[in-house]
Amino acid sequence: MKYIGAHVSAAGGVENAPVNAHGIGANGFAFFTKNQRQWSAKPLTDENIENFKKNCDQYGISMDAVIPHDSYLINIGHPEKDKLQKSRNAFLDEFRRCEQLGVKMINFHPGSHLNKIKEAECLKRNAESINWILNQTEGVTAVIENTAGQGTNLGYRFEHIAEIIDLVDDKERVGVCIDTAHAFAGGYDISTKEGFRQTFDEFDSIIGFGYLKAMHLNDSRKELGSRVDRHETLGNGLIGWTPFEQIMKDSRFDKIPLILETPDPDGWPEEINKLNSLSDK
Ligand SMILES: [Zn+2]
Ligand SMILES: [Zn+2]
Repeated sequence: MKYIGAHVSAAGGVENAPVNAHGIGANGFAFFTKNQRQWSAKPLTDENIENFKKNCDQYGISMDAVIPHDSYLINIGHPEKDKLQKSRNAFLDEFRRCEQLGVKMINFHPGSHLNKIKEAECLKRNAESINWILNQTEGVTAVIENTAGQGTNLGYRFEHIAEIIDLVDDKERVGVCIDTAHAFAGGYDISTKEGFRQTFDEFDSIIGFGYLKAMHLNDSRKELGSRVDRHETLGNGLIGWTPFEQIMKDSRFDKIPLILETPDPDGWPEEINKLNSLSDK
């Protein structure tokens, strides 16, 4: 069983996200639990929460297939103390929103060192931030996304992610989301069958498939190892269909959200159809 969806709009209220997902033929989705460009947001109302749950239920969307993305403002590896705390508070608020909605995980990018602290110190801060949040929350898993390694972003090597996980106390509530465009831009050549196999062998030995909680399915406009994050419609970029076909035929990617973050929302129904047609099941 594959859960396929997209990062859908939650404009007008979080309860609209499952409706929008259903509208494109998805059985899973990602969304923002608040405006991703602002630090603070109004609390969710009882009505938001009730309708979100009701709509997921009505469209048969399992909570295992839902993974919100945190705000892009948040940097839980921030080198400066006050800014780090601001990020931690904002991320904690997003965890609380997930708790209220009954959502079981949230994905985020490891923070940036901004050339002010060493890589190892930044990875340690990421783990300390995760520990600080997990200690105050329940039932929501922190899902670390690999990055393209743009600027001073960490998380483009599997080793970075493994290092963070290693320092997290509650291993039951930490996981990984692999973004295919980020992997490619970060230097993992998943565009060929052999490269795909090697990449996920490496993933398994360095991090472990047990930690894989979600995938972001994106083609890339930028070259292998470019360290530049530009998503493209599946099949229209430099990656091509090969890895997506591999994913759809591989049971290691069953029952986790497979989320499109491709640039053309009008094309999502077609991309979802094509993905489903590649599955054996
Ligand atoms: Zn992504
Ligand atoms: Zn990206």
